[in-house]
Amino acid sequence: MAMGNLMRALNLYGVGDLRYDEVKKPRPQTGEVLLKVRACGICGSDIPRVFTKGTYHFPTIPGHEFAGEIVAVPEGEDAGLIGKRAAVFPLLPCGQCAACVTGHYAQCAHYSYYGSRQDGAMAEYLAVRRENLCFLPEGVSYEAAAMCEPTAVARHAFLQSGAGLGNVLAIYGVGAIAMLLAQWAKAAGVRKIVLAARSREKVNWAKGMGFPLTFDLKNPEEREAWEKALSDEGGADACIEGTGASDGLAGCLQVAKTFGTVVTMGNPQGEMRLSQDDYWKILRKELVIRGTWNSLFSAAENDWRQSLSAMGQGMLQPEKLITHRFSLSEYREAFKLMRDKKELYGKVMLVME
Ligand SMILES: [Zn+2]
Ligand SMILES: [Zn+2]
Repeated sequence: MAMGNLMRALNLYGVGDLRYDEVKKPRPQTGEVLLKVRACGICGSDIPRVFTKGTYHFPTIPGHEFAGEIVAVPEGEDAGLIGKRAAVFPLLPCGQCAACVTGHYAQCAHYSYYGSRQDGAMAEYLAVRRENLCFLPEGVSYEAAAMCEPTAVARHAFLQSGAGLGNVLAIYGVGAIAMLLAQWAKAAGVRKIVLAARSREKVNWAKGMGFPLTFDLKNPEEREAWEKALSDEGGADACIEGTGASDGLAGCLQVAKTFGTVVTMGNPQGEMRLSQDDYWKILRKELVIRGTWNSLFSAAENDWRQSLSAMGQGMLQPEKLITHRFSLSEYREAFKLMRDKKELYGKVMLVME
């Protein structure tokens, strides 16, 4: 337990050099509150950040998927916030550029970000901007709320697909965001949700979460069953590419129905290439190819508030995706698990007592 004005944090000193460190406890500035972090998810993007690509400057405390309790406000500011539980939108928009003026903060030209461009939440405390707070409805746990970021990203992608009541949706990839997306689709009344995985373990995991139409495309028989599940319907109304691999994109173009929509969501793992045949499918079927990026956090449309409210109503169960929990000091094991990929994981959560 850190004392006085020091706290414990995971501090990234360089590529591959993440330390369980003792640092100065932040003090909230005007317009900020001090959050006692209670749960912080490790995002897939934290793995290259820590092990290969690094971040904008060192040292930096990672962590952008988090929730906690407000424990202090600057003098003269609203003390009524103390004791409230909140998730935090990690993007800090400039407020000046063309995107910011219309509330499209994900497209901001000069943003900062908790956990990459500035210190994040793999720490006991973080001072966060009041405008970025999203208060938790009753009954929503800190761990579920720490998954508000991927849940909001999944909601945004789902809405880009245009799929809804009675439709058929295909999802390529069975990661945490894809599974949250599948939960949104189910809640929205999508009739048939067909998922493509690349291992038996992932298939079993998705099935265990209530998605029986999950297929291992590495297995020829299952690949056939996946194709049949979709061709029986004349193709999917919408397909979501969640792998960032060329064959995922090609697969989406193949199973989309005429005039269908393909949403590109997965961060590209390398060059994205299409065969001439697959490219033809965009033309002949007049497919809509639509990108999705981050989530909306504006007054008019807010994926974050909608996510928390859906959790509060029991429409979504993000905590079902949590396969591993670690304390801050057990960080080596947590990061190694995600880097080495030797065992199946869904969401890996750092939980602070
Ligand atoms: Zn993330
Ligand atoms: Zn901006």
